[in-house]
Amino acid sequence: MFNSSEIRSQFPALGQKVNGHDLVYLDSAATTLKPNVVIDRITNFYKFETANVHRGAHYLSDKGTVEFENGREAIRKLFNAASTEEIIFTKGTTEGLNLLASSYGETFLNEGDEIVLTELEHHANIVPWQILALKKKCVVKYIAVNETGELEASSIDQVITTKTKIVSFSGCSNILGTITDVEKIVAKAKSVGAITILDAAQLISQKKIDVQKLDVDFLVLSSHKLFGPFGFGALYGKKSLLSTMPPYQTGGSMISSVGFDKTTFNDLPFKFEAGTPHVEGAVGTAAAIQFFTKLNIEDVFAHEQKLMNQLTEGLLSIPEIKLFGTAKNKAAIVSFNLQGAHHSDIGQILDQMGVAVRVGHHCTQPLLKKFGLTGTVRASISLYNNETDIEKTVEAVKKARRMLL
Ligand code: PMP
Repeated sequence: MFNSSEIRSQFPALGQKVNGHDLVYLDSAATTLKPNVVIDRITNFYKFETANVHRGAHYLSDKGTVEFENGREAIRKLFNAASTEEIIFTKGTTEGLNLLASSYGETFLNEGDEIVLTELEHHANIVPWQILALKKKCVVKYIAVNETGELEASSIDQVITTKTKIVSFSGCSNILGTITDVEKIVAKAKSVGAITILDAAQLISQKKIDVQKLDVDFLVLSSHKLFGPFGFGALYGKKSLLSTMPPYQTGGSMISSVGFDKTTFNDLPFKFEAGTPHVEGAVGTAAAIQFFTKLNIEDVFAHEQKLMNQLTEGLLSIPEIKLFGTAKNKAAIVSFNLQGAHHSDIGQILDQMGVAVRVGHHCTQPLLKKFGLTGTVRASISLYNNETDIEKTVEAVKKARRMLL
């Protein structure tokens, strides 16, 4: 059974007071808090294991290399990739998408080709494709989102055509929580011969992902959204595709041999990892994955859904509340506005009561524009939240209403 109080005790950040109140952390879609096992693992690495990897001829470097590559294996196992050659370390989701737009897109796309995204995307999955489209004279198209925040099934069929070369989409919206129908989009993309890229930044903490079963071509994620360190993430790619792609960045580590006139490149995955890597990122991520996979992801999801329903009910008892994102299948991300008040003012009042939420456009400006909004308040729930957190949040929103309306 899922024991949230036992889980909470593993997150030292939750033991502090903010503005005189016990911290209520509801900003996990921006980044998750870190458990002791991750903090201790990284500290221990810096204290006793610091060394550069892959090149040393000494004990610490060898140990560091083993631990670093254990991180790759932990990520491979997390979503059942066939081989660690298919796991490229990155700075995170954003870098993974830039790598794909640059290396795959600039090599394989031609004038008139179409790139399909959805209206739900984070800016990280829009801007690199717009830049690529400008360079290569391609067209960017979007699968439409309806009022509830779900993708229109008919739009999936209309927008993905034989001109489509890439379909890049989020498995879970960071603003509305919508969990998209990955199988359906992949099936449609395959039927026209397009490659698929799954932005798993949010999905990774919600559902078990099996890249072989889903048959996605690429997947990107950030470790900091899965209880791991900042500045680190991974790109999964099918070996058959990664081996045809040119390097993204160049320099040390990604080479096989360098002459004054010519360079040959290293094997996968190192061909895509130029320079000294983020060693503690890999080490901390392995600890984070170990922490997360010890739990039953379905129990975690059920716990978060229960809290989301409690929050939704509590908010809807306030007459001026308007919720955004009511998809049937959604993560515990609750976006709302209080009609007549500005989202930033609500965020400030909540903060004064120790409740941490995010306010603003959440890096989804096109979607907000479509809904006629400039921003929302977003409360995003994770496994360490509990019913008291939700009660305090609803009370804080009621207080904001009294102060602002
Ligand atoms: N895609 C989604 C769905 C996200 O939620 C985020 C982070 N908010 C990103 C991409 C970008 O992730 P990062 O900033 O860690 O690179």
